[in-house]
Amino acid sequence: MTGGSALLGGSAFAQAPAVLTNSQAGRRFRAYVKFTRERPTIVELRARALIERQVLLRVEAAQTCYTNVDQCLIAGYPMPPNGASVIGHGGVGIVEAIGPQVLHTRVGDRVVVNLHNACGKCFNCLRMRSDKCMSNQAGPAVPRYDMADGTPVFGGTGAMAELMICNEEQEVSIFSDVSSAELSMLPCVGGCGLGMAFTNVPVDLGSDVVVFGAGPVGLSALMGAKMKGASQLIMVEPIRYRRELAMKLGATATLDPNQYKERKLRPEPGIEVVIASDRHEDALVEKIRDMCKMKNTRVWAGGNRIGPDHVMEAVGGDRLKPKEVQGPDPTGVTVLQQCWELCSAIGTLATCSVGQPSGSLVEIPATQWADGAKHHWGGTGGGTNDRRDVPLFARLMETGQLNMKAVVGATYPLSQAREAYQACADRTVISTVVTPTA
Ligand SMILES: [Zn+2]
Ligand SMILES: [Zn+2]
Repeated sequence: MTGGSALLGGSAFAQAPAVLTNSQAGRRFRAYVKFTRERPTIVELRARALIERQVLLRVEAAQTCYTNVDQCLIAGYPMPPNGASVIGHGGVGIVEAIGPQVLHTRVGDRVVVNLHNACGKCFNCLRMRSDKCMSNQAGPAVPRYDMADGTPVFGGTGAMAELMICNEEQEVSIFSDVSSAELSMLPCVGGCGLGMAFTNVPVDLGSDVVVFGAGPVGLSALMGAKMKGASQLIMVEPIRYRRELAMKLGATATLDPNQYKERKLRPEPGIEVVIASDRHEDALVEKIRDMCKMKNTRVWAGGNRIGPDHVMEAVGGDRLKPKEVQGPDPTGVTVLQQCWELCSAIGTLATCSVGQPSGSLVEIPATQWADGAKHHWGGTGGGTNDRRDVPLFARLMETGQLNMKAVVGATYPLSQAREAYQACADRTVISTVVTPTA
């Protein structure tokens, strides 16, 4: 490859020089690869030559996203027909080579590779919804690696490998000395939680905020809401050590949902119901409403708001039964329903989870849907624009305002990637990070 800075002439706007991309072709490295049928395993791959806006990096850290655990741990789990692909939802690494059209990145940069693109040019990006960037629809997926027998291997977000080829649209250069393990919490999980608190939900000073789920996503949402000045922060989480961690990170109270499981339809829904959304009598909803009850109960004097100002959901469906305590509804659907019911009449709820059973439904009273004023923000990545927001999150980590170090649980070498995913599925630690080249 050629050197970078000497050819740039000092211009910050000069395009990065082309590299001898074929020099990367054939580089051998180990990766954790999933197949159409067989159980994932660690195999040796060879990198293909970089094309267009591809970037090759040496991976330093990658978090084990819970949404991958079934692919990693269930034998015969049905996979898309693409064939083999490297596992993972983003990571952190050092750029070793760049494709001929790369503009932002320089060789030697440390970059965060996000799950989603943020191209800044597509229809959705131009309308401030980079979390729904469409650039990955621009063409069919292309293989980036080959196995020794010639089998092509895909995997644009897979960072469970010593080397990774990603698209420039996915990655952001980080100019900070924050550790790669901490930064690795940002793609997909931490960034998603922070995105809920920072981007679309107007968490305001003195507000009451409820977060469901104290995993890495929910804890990040909690810390974001605290930074934005929420006064009461209630975390709902069935696992004790996660509730305790939430208290260390800023929660003012925690609730174990298994202590408030009672939920039943009201006898005559819609007839004698004071709050239109209350078709159910729900012990958890009632408990939280009670905790958020305003001292000022005078409707004519700015009081009597019912329910918290903002609700954020980071639970989702259980893909495997955890070793730790399970919540009241493993499908995650009841939590979505409770979030809607809890949210105050003009409040905001943000949801970001996945994994609910296909065909499951959330029930919203028609009058609330048609004529209500609850604001719902769903969306991939919590609404973040990764190119804009990831450097901000790294800055908050650098200054100590955001304690992502507390959310990094155990680290594993690449050879133990499966164990890392097992611990993630078991929920025996708050998170697991694989460090392929440590
Ligand atoms: Zn993920
Ligand atoms: Zn885009």
